[in-house]
Amino acid sequence: MNGTLVVAEHLRGELRDVTFELVAAAAEIGGPVSVAVIARDPSLFTDALSVEGVDEIVTVQAEAEEFENDVYQQVIEALIEDRGPGFVLLGFTVNGMGYGPAVAAKLGLGFASDVFRLSREEDGLLARRAFYGAKVHAEVDFPGKERVLLMLRPGAWAPAEGRGDPTITDLSVQVTAPRARHLKLVDPPAGDVDITAADFLLSIGRGIGTREEIPRFEALAGKMGATLSVSRPLVDAGWMTNARQVGQSGKTVRPKVYLALGISGAVQHLAGIKGDGTIIAVNTDPEAAIFGVARYGAVVDLFEVAEALAELFA
Ligand SMILES: Cc1cc2nc3c(=O)[nH]c(=O)nc-3n(C[C@H](O)[C@H](O)[C@H](O)COP(=O)(O)OP(=O)(O)OC[C@H]3O[C@@H](n4cnc5c(N)ncnc54)[C@H](O)[C@@H]3O)c2cc1C
Repeated sequence: MNGTLVVAEHLRGELRDVTFELVAAAAEIGGPVSVAVIARDPSLFTDALSVEGVDEIVTVQAEAEEFENDVYQQVIEALIEDRGPGFVLLGFTVNGMGYGPAVAAKLGLGFASDVFRLSREEDGLLARRAFYGAKVHAEVDFPGKERVLLMLRPGAWAPAEGRGDPTITDLSVQVTAPRARHLKLVDPPAGDVDITAADFLLSIGRGIGTREEIPRFEALAGKMGATLSVSRPLVDAGWMTNARQVGQSGKTVRPKVYLALGISGAVQHLAGIKGDGTIIAVNTDPEAAIFGVARYGAVVDLFEVAEALAELFA
């Protein structure tokens, strides 16, 4: 066992928040922490990655400018074989899902995804994770595993901060040509709105039922001085643009008030709500996960609430 290896995540030249959350989790595990950054010019990231808790930054130069799962898989496999870390930490993100499970399966590592808490027991590390749409939490241990790869839920750890003074090591890894080639990154349709800057979000989810209901919530948001945001199913169904989607594969928002109507509170949705604003949840299911994070909640039909609000703000 030889410390913890964190895999940095970046997009369009910016490190993603989850990278610093992984560093914080690695510090909890203990032992030397190495952060691997794979990029066409990894030196662009070393300054920002020099945070407290990082002992070493391993830079790996890659052909592709942006994330490519084949490349990451080969580089991380090479790094694990070269350095033998006890733990490898990746974000439970769209990128991480593209190679993490494959690396774990190929190298026979212990594995858990969507991990949101770690604890040490006498006989090893326990990872707490969610199953069945976050309705069940379970602790996973890794008996007999010398190495463990964990995919951590974004937003579950406070990001590491403060300056550190890590050593920087360049590592050369030969990778075969990736199976996919990036032609260009497609921007989401021009945003009609910037939900990331809104103080008050009225957010609607699949609970609204049909597309025909959207205008009533657009009107309600207008009356209340709120910005309308949505959960992913409404974007997948083509009812709203991605510019309004809150969550892991949408936008990260930091409103003062987040009023969620008919949103269950899946981890991928909650990952996009940051800051210490007030979350108010309306849902007919008292077991909905959103109530676990809401400051105020009502187990009631969202349309009753929408009508009452429309009258109040008429
Ligand atoms: C890789 C990946 C990335 C993802 N990224 C995102 C993301 O960025 N953002 C995101 O939102 N999701 C994302 N998801 C999807 C996520 O897992 C959930 O499926 C999604 O968030 C569920 O949306 P929802 O809460 O609107 O719908 P549901 O989970 O279907 O919940 C609807 C809720 O409405 C309630 N309801 C129904 N009728 C009423 C009523 N009349 N009154 C009150 N309540 C009612 C129900 O009780 C239920 O809780 C991602 C998934 C994956 C795998």
